[in-house]
Amino acid sequence: MRLTRPTFPAPDHDHGRCTADAIEHAERICNQRSQKFTPIRRQVLQALLSSHRPLGAYEVIDELAKSMPRPAPITVYRALDFLMENGLVHRIESRNAFLACGHDHEAAAMVAFLICELCGSVGEIPAAVMAQSLNAAARASGFAPKMLVVEITGICAHCRQN
Ligand SMILES: [Zn+2]
Ligand SMILES: [Zn+2]
Ligand SMILES: [Zn+2]
Repeated sequence: MRLTRPTFPAPDHDHGRCTADAIEHAERICNQRSQKFTPIRRQVLQALLSSHRPLGAYEVIDELAKSMPRPAPITVYRALDFLMENGLVHRIESRNAFLACGHDHEAAAMVAFLICELCGSVGEIPAAVMAQSLNAAARASGFAPKMLVVEITGICAHCRQN
């Protein structure tokens, strides 16, 4: 996996650019897979792209309700499932929240999440090698690993400078 963007964008970065790139990427992915990028899927992704912080499903609904009639939770959950299946959104398990993926990596690529305790931003780092060795260690003990989640809390480089 190749990260073409900084793990944590600088506070003064061009976020409009991030959002536009992510939407364009989602359009391309949906096109390639002959999937429909329906208005609600787009709106949910756009709500998640409002910042680099993960949002809970109800925060997504609140965000959407600013510009449209309040959507039903099931509608939003379905859109989130679609976005996750296509690698456009990640679930941050420890926060029960969802993060728009700002990177062009494969849906199945193993990443670790870095969660900043001060600003709430979440960054992604490649974790394939670590995942291999953890899975191997799990199998060595007779365990059949299914899902590996790596979330690291701490302070991001930008918050550390302040
Ligand atoms: Zn941004
Ligand atoms: Zn990602
Ligand atoms: Zn931070």
